[in-house]
Amino acid sequence: MHEMSIAHEIVQTVEDTLPGRRILTVTLQVGVLAAVVPEALQFGWEVATQRTALAGSRLVVDLQPLPARCLDCGAHHPTLRPPPNTCPDCTGDLMPLAEGRELRLCTVEIEDDGPAGPAVEQEPSSE
Ligand SMILES: [Zn+2]
Repeated sequence: MHEMSIAHEIVQTVEDTLPGRRILTVTLQVGVLAAVVPEALQFGWEVATQRTALAGSRLVVDLQPLPARCLDCGAHHPTLRPPPNTCPDCTGDLMPLAEGRELRLCTVEIEDDGPAGPAVEQEPSSE
């Protein structure tokens, strides 16, 4: 399964980048044409994270709109649907302006080492 190897790759990358940290959430930006099925990726995630620092973490799939321009009227209409798409203004053909195949690790939320609570301010140590 394609999504399974993607999940394994992400787990590997996160573990390499943040060794020994407990991971809470991983956000992945996925292009419309990346040929990734979010449900399959979620399933692959559960399997791939087992017995890793990412076990129990949440995978957020952030679908990226595909920028597209109408060939007839020139209007820009980003779309979340794979082509072919038609212009909502004039029903002309929408031409994708990007590959739409991006698969980007966006943010990783890690568990705080310190006591629970928002780490907003740090007390300056008294001298
Ligand atoms: Zn148009």
